[in-house]
Amino acid sequence: MVRVAEEWFAVCGGCELSLLDIGESLLDILPNLEIVHMPVLMDHKLFGQKGDGTKPEIPEADLGLITGGIRNEENKELALEMRKKCKIIVALGTCACFGGIPALANLSTTEAMLDQIFNKEKGTDPSSPPSDKSLPKLLDRVYAVDEVIKVDIHLPGCPPTPAHIVELLNAVLAGKTFALPERSVCDTCPTIREKQSTGGSIKRPLQNAQFTPGRYDNMRCLNEQGLFCLGPVTKAGCNRILGADPSEEIPRCIKAYMPCRGCFGPVRQSSNPTADIMGSLSYIGRDPKEIVDRVATINRFIGSGRLRPQDK
Ligand code: SF4
Ligand code: SF4
Ligand code: SF4
Repeated sequence: MVRVAEEWFAVCGGCELSLLDIGESLLDILPNLEIVHMPVLMDHKLFGQKGDGTKPEIPEADLGLITGGIRNEENKELALEMRKKCKIIVALGTCACFGGIPALANLSTTEAMLDQIFNKEKGTDPSSPPSDKSLPKLLDRVYAVDEVIKVDIHLPGCPPTPAHIVELLNAVLAGKTFALPERSVCDTCPTIREKQSTGGSIKRPLQNAQFTPGRYDNMRCLNEQGLFCLGPVTKAGCNRILGADPSEEIPRCIKAYMPCRGCFGPVRQSSNPTADIMGSLSYIGRDPKEIVDRVATINRFIGSGRLRPQDK
């Protein structure tokens, strides 16, 4: 029996939905799991059942799943508590691994972000940011979980696929570790590559690619067509289906004739996607300077340690 604790920090809840999306495989796995803490599923009180505790406590567990980046003091305290109580910590989803979309806020200081949201947004009456002392204090930026505590396993994806979650849980039940292969989205993409651009400028993401409906194998690489695709620097696996041959999985956005936006994060933890994608575009004769809002676009899902305030 593996005892499981789960916590969520700066999230949208999509990673938890992916857990539920496991479907029938969950029936095989559940008898071997004892869920001891999971706010989305059970009413376990962090400060004791009567609320008389003085600090948040999470029960001891073999496996600790964390979704979401670390945005405030409470997230940080709970991350430290999870590390103390769980033998194995998994950063589940791109927000936990790299900050995800919430880490785009790292392009601003906390003060500038609050000022923008509460005073400058069109359509909202200006007001003061909440000052209630019971609210957790925001940290200076969004942190990936491994910037605050040691993480044993990273499982990226926005959200991670249910198939990968099953593979992860089965690996833990078998006493093994788990890691996605170091392959890029391009490695699993069926489009035709001629190693040169078709000319013109880099287009905005919502412009259509040239394609034959139902065919992927005669569509020209989207970067060569002039759309901006992060496939060369993004980890493969977004279309993982249990029991299917990984070599036949077509990346999800490519299947919709859309460029990859990088939601699985870098191919390796230590990669430098900005330098790598600029090199990749230059190689086929594209000018990376044409990418609109370049810094945020390249780091859309991975801004925790990479984006810095641009405020004047
Ligand atoms: S990784 Fe994606 S699905 Fe998961 S919490 Fe973040 S935004 Fe939501
Ligand atoms: S850049 Fe995009 S379209 Fe081109 S091969 Fe890579 S994933 Fe496919
Ligand atoms: S193609 Fe890229 S952006 Fe689209 S789901 Fe896959 S990894 Fe995410």
